[in-house]
Amino acid sequence: MSAERKYREEIVRYGRMIHEHGFVAAMDGNLSVRLDNRRILVTPTCVSKGAMKPADMVIVDTEGQRVAGRRNVTSEIGMHLLIYRLRPDVKAIVHAHPPTATGFAAAGVPLTEPLVCEVVMGLGCIPLARYGTPGTSELAQTLEPYVPEYDAILMSNHGVVAYGDTLEHAYMKMETVEHFAQIALVTHLLGRQQPLSNVEIEKLLSARARYFGAKLAASMPLPFLRSSPQKVS
Ligand SMILES: [Zn+2]
Repeated sequence: MSAERKYREEIVRYGRMIHEHGFVAAMDGNLSVRLDNRRILVTPTCVSKGAMKPADMVIVDTEGQRVAGRRNVTSEIGMHLLIYRLRPDVKAIVHAHPPTATGFAAAGVPLTEPLVCEVVMGLGCIPLARYGTPGTSELAQTLEPYVPEYDAILMSNHGVVAYGDTLEHAYMKMETVEHFAQIALVTHLLGRQQPLSNVEIEKLLSARARYFGAKLAASMPLPFLRSSPQKVS
């Protein structure tokens, strides 16, 4: 099977997963894979991500111009192009509107509290980008400050974008963000948070450096390392 055929089928599979998990409704969301340094395979607009076929995908160039496919490309292609341009390590992107994480994004609350060790190690934290109108260059501009240092971003009043070296890893980051948002919500319902201490965060970041490379861990600005609320509220 050709690599392109494999990626078309992967996009169908993970599209079905974001739909089955309730991360998208109706025709929301989009997924893409970088085929090479000139071409991106991406989902079309106006189709349920739970009911796509491999032949539905569109191939665009680095300017977003369609070079193959019958359907029109997602209107959020500009966000995908920006991420691929700023992050040569990224090979795949998932954008969805998972309800709990999107609730935080609609409340203007970033997911930056160090509440769960695996999330600190895997993602650091999930910052909140300001609002930008979908389908415009404004949306990509709002994400630009965060893309170099974070692998998942909350988009104000909109949703979440996550990316990685494979579509599987990009999808898993999306799942982690939504799962963490649910845990953070429970701590808010309980009326108290018990954040990890600076000492524990530093141990997790050393582990992160071992697993993911020191450069990434060192470059990640973690808001909670500076503010680090220690007291139980
Ligand atoms: Zn969206």
